[in-house]
Amino acid sequence: MGKPTGFLEIDRKLAPKRAVSERVNDYKEIELLNTPEETVAQASRCMDCGTPFCHHGCPLGNIIPEFNDAVYEQNWKYAYDILSTTNNFPEFTGRICPAPCESSCVLGINKPAVAIELIEKSIIEKAFSEGWVIPFIPKTRTGYKVAVIGSGPAGLAAAAQLNKAGHLVTVYERADQIGGLLRYGIPDFKLDKTVVTRRVEVMKLEGITFITNANIGSSEKLSHLTNNFDAVLVATGSTTPRFISAKGNDAVGIFPAMEFLSQQNKRNASISLEVNHRGEPYVNKDIKATGKHVVIIGGGDTGSDCVGTSNRHKAASITQIEVMPKPPVDRASNTPWPNWPNMLRTSTSHDEGVERLWSISLQEFVKNEKGELEALIIGDIVYNMNDGKMEQEVINMRKIPCDLALIAAGFLHTDHGSLFEQLITLGVKSDERGNLIADSTYQSDNEKVFIAGDARRGQSLVVWAISEGREAARNIDLYLMGKTSLEGKTVSS
Ligand code: FAD
Repeated sequence: MGKPTGFLEIDRKLAPKRAVSERVNDYKEIELLNTPEETVAQASRCMDCGTPFCHHGCPLGNIIPEFNDAVYEQNWKYAYDILSTTNNFPEFTGRICPAPCESSCVLGINKPAVAIELIEKSIIEKAFSEGWVIPFIPKTRTGYKVAVIGSGPAGLAAAAQLNKAGHLVTVYERADQIGGLLRYGIPDFKLDKTVVTRRVEVMKLEGITFITNANIGSSEKLSHLTNNFDAVLVATGSTTPRFISAKGNDAVGIFPAMEFLSQQNKRNASISLEVNHRGEPYVNKDIKATGKHVVIIGGGDTGSDCVGTSNRHKAASITQIEVMPKPPVDRASNTPWPNWPNMLRTSTSHDEGVERLWSISLQEFVKNEKGELEALIIGDIVYNMNDGKMEQEVINMRKIPCDLALIAAGFLHTDHGSLFEQLITLGVKSDERGNLIADSTYQSDNEKVFIAGDARRGQSLVVWAISEGREAARNIDLYLMGKTSLEGKTVSS
């Protein structure tokens, strides 16, 4: 612990954000980089707790007090070495993680938590600028070949780890670009795509092969991979959208959020809009919020990304509706612990302008005579006790203008298309929610097939995907070699 009184003397201070009036005119990242001096000051707030709950709160088991101390000592290279032991991609988590580590920070009991995410981003950006992030080329190759299906954070983390262990790794991706939701879900203003490309370039130099436009199950049969590789990791994500069953849901002007978001990411990168993030033709290639009354249905990350994108399109109005009640802004009075990062949290997009409505039931999509969406009928949800039972009632029905509805009501499971059917044929099982089942070693009921990331746990977080990818890689290495030198998790969570 570098500065024992740091937490008493220095306040939490996050990196500056670009002014709303400026940033809504482009898709560049909102958050700026801290100066090294400011990051050193923030690192000095770490109390180096005897039991570092932050370390346990992080799904990767990041060794946080140690890298905080190294930053405080201005030993940035050592900080990078510590961080990269547990996290393959701190440049992603340092930008978009809801930072469960910060919610676990003991300082959070009576002061704002240590700014761990900011410190993480500062370390990795310094590492890239100093040239410390160099390709890890294994000294020897094992002769084993592993196929990874899906290039989101789970597939990428697994590929990096498996390559490090000396296996020859091929990543298959159905989209035209590598990155999964990092590329075609999360907007550029949260995560610039040069950050994804920069990492993929390092991985290519490490010897990993990437094949895009490869829709396994369709363009290539799964059995081709199981026959030609020693192990197959399925990391296909969970992007089957939940639809809204309300009356009028066939109106023209209702779209899944991912169609809207992925199109904008493609436009920003000047990539053709021939196919969507699934490698399928877009139903409508020009979903724009410009001049429209936009209603976003769903209050999570996906919904807030639609808010930010609609503001940049210059929508006439933006409303976000959510069935859940408004979460408490402050901690519950009976617990001093900070709230677990809430899926309905406020994001930077909300600062840019939106009307948020809570406890709302969507009753009907109203269409005009041409079948186009022109309004929504919504009502407020209230709860009444009736004979000891809680009952829901919808009151105060009203019509709100809406000619673009974006559905961000969550995701059901991984795609249940031809790959899924072929997996089931090969003995892989799915659970009652439709996710693929693997045991605690990420191995499915087909011993050659492993599952990781959202395809296994359902739509989650980037940090969990990286964690699952790393753990699956470790278990694949064990399966192939009978032993492994890949780092395991330093904590269980
Ligand atoms: P994915 O990232 O979904 O990647 C799966 C990949 O598999 C895709 O590229 C897909 O095309 C490919 N694939 C699927 N089937 C096949 C096939 N048959 N053949 C070949 N390839 C295939 N999390 C955060 O932590 N912070 C955030 O701010 C955040 N924002 C989000 C915003 C949006 C709009 C969404 C939708 C999610 C967000 N998340 C966020 C969640 C996070 O992105 C996911 O949890 C994470 O990307 C899951 O990683 P994954 O590798 O399991 O799957």
